[in-house]
Amino acid sequence: MPFLLGDYLRAYSQDFRILSSSNPYRFALNGLNYSAHVSLAHFAARKNPDEWRIQIPRSVRETQIAREQAGDIVLFIGFFDDYPAFTAWEASYVLSLNSKDIGSVYVPHSNANDASTNMAALDRRAARNLGRNTTKLTFRGEFLGFYAENLNLLHQVETGAQLLRVVEQFSDFIEQAEPSGTENQLVEIAGRRRKVSSVRKNYPRNPHFRDSVMSAYSGSCAICRKQLGIVEAAHIIPHNHPDCVEAVTNGIALCVEHHRLYDAALLMPTAGQRFVLNNQRVEHLKNIGQDSGLDEVRILAAGSYEVPHDAQFNPNEEFLKRGVRIRLGTDA
Ligand SMILES: [Zn+2]
Repeated sequence: MPFLLGDYLRAYSQDFRILSSSNPYRFALNGLNYSAHVSLAHFAARKNPDEWRIQIPRSVRETQIAREQAGDIVLFIGFFDDYPAFTAWEASYVLSLNSKDIGSVYVPHSNANDASTNMAALDRRAARNLGRNTTKLTFRGEFLGFYAENLNLLHQVETGAQLLRVVEQFSDFIEQAEPSGTENQLVEIAGRRRKVSSVRKNYPRNPHFRDSVMSAYSGSCAICRKQLGIVEAAHIIPHNHPDCVEAVTNGIALCVEHHRLYDAALLMPTAGQRFVLNNQRVEHLKNIGQDSGLDEVRILAAGSYEVPHDAQFNPNEEFLKRGVRIRLGTDA
């Protein structure tokens, strides 16, 4: 089950880049900058067994307010460990909390169940500090990019039935594996017809890049040496980055698992056949209880990876270092 923002957003549109990899995460999606606080929703241990919450420290609210003032679109996202769904709270609602230290916001856990079967669910109730109602939206994970692009309109939806009509108009487009294009639909929201849009970008692959990387590495993963037909040609400066070149020196052959660890900015090959292990990401995975397998990754990180015997096919060392910075969100 994907927990990390990047998994859903990269699948939604390849025009996606992490700008800062500590929580709240900053990222760019389809040309707009976002700051998203992401946490695991948990049982609140109160009387109501359906009451789940996320906690938001005051320091996070202050960071989010500053970023909103600087032009970021601010998100508050809760994931679930038992459903492939997320809940999004209205930013103005979360930012209206005035608890001294840690505040928390609520979502019915049954909404996660409903969203994983019906695509979406909604909980609307009074927000005292706002003097009006606020709407919490729960979606299946693949709707995260769609939510980010339309959040202001979507939070005006008043009923679950209305929300389902909106997502049904987009579900075919959102569920396509690798589409490229824009879907616009007029939908009824709070008694008015409004335009909702979804933009998904996929960049075409260069088959020559793949073939030259695969032959330089004899089809073996540079990290674990597996072949087995599960190896891919990974870009070092990522495919969606403007400075990506389709040359063998910007490529490294990685099995699907090690390719994912690289793109998730967890275990990253760098210059000198060494690795960078992303300690911030390690802490995040521990915090959300998703760190099983970490020992194996630590052992890999302490070792080295293979490069082709023929030095002209070796990864460019500057590309490797920059590839790490881009994935960490520290590339200037
Ligand atoms: Zn491997």
